[in-house]
Amino acid sequence: MKSQTQTKQVKENPKRKWSLQDFEIGKPLGKGKFGRVYLAREAKSKFIVALKVIFKEQIERYKIHHQLKREMEIQTSLRHPNVLRLYGWFHDAERVFLILEYAHRGELYKELRLRGQLSEKQAATYILSLAQALAYCHEKDVIHRDIKPENLLLDHEGRLKIADFGWSVQSRIKRHTMCGTLDYLAPEMVENKAHDYAVDNWTLGVLCYEFLYGNPPFETETQKDTLKRIRNVDLSFPASPLVSSEAKDLISRLLVKDSSKRLSLKKIMEHPWIIKNADPTGVCSS
Ligand code: AMP
Repeated sequence: MKSQTQTKQVKENPKRKWSLQDFEIGKPLGKGKFGRVYLAREAKSKFIVALKVIFKEQIERYKIHHQLKREMEIQTSLRHPNVLRLYGWFHDAERVFLILEYAHRGELYKELRLRGQLSEKQAATYILSLAQALAYCHEKDVIHRDIKPENLLLDHEGRLKIADFGWSVQSRIKRHTMCGTLDYLAPEMVENKAHDYAVDNWTLGVLCYEFLYGNPPFETETQKDTLKRIRNVDLSFPASPLVSSEAKDLISRLLVKDSSKRLSLKKIMEHPWIIKNADPTGVCSS
């Protein structure tokens, strides 16, 4: 049986020097823009992880050195049940390896596409988990800035884990870089204005809509039209599927152009729709 001390080696030892020899590599889990991810286990403790491999040549080519460094520093410092752990990293001549918490059920995006839309119970549980994780991040002055279904993973029980801190930033001052993914961008980002943590709150409104209706609220055929709809907060609720008025109320209070009037994360957690539907354990089977 694996000893607790050995498991601790992976989980609680960010300073330890790792190398590829420390891991047994298993099946590929997926392929991202900059690298591949493999199931792996630490040879001594048998502790299961996901190993992300990024080629240095890609880092050079796409000039993501700064972004990757920031992602690694921020993600290793975060400890929350709904934030994917980054246990550590190492590199060889050609590659950088990230030792990540393994999320057995993969991307929430896959689940959403498979089911079309989620139940109110399931959607509220995910929104509560996200609000709790973001409250923790914002308290540490970390803004994620790229919350979307592809960056949300599920563990073996279905607990949501925020991953991919590539666009995140640790800052107390307002930021100006336009980043993230079009459908999820807040109006202040689209208009290239200064933005702060409230961009993540906006995204929770977009996600809540997408969970319940199956598509993000401002989706159109062209980027130009999507940007216009976001700028105008052109929000409408289709007649089907049937969605409760409490859920629509929460969405409408998050998708507000004036970022200072957007619902706070604390108010999201206390919203009647969340209280009524969300499973506080973060695990919900239906
Ligand atoms: P990424 O390069 O982060 O976009 O990851 C590529 C794919 O690998 C994702 O779409 C997931 O399906 C899978 N993946 C990434 N990280 C993990 C993880 N920690 N646990 C399980 N699967 C993962």
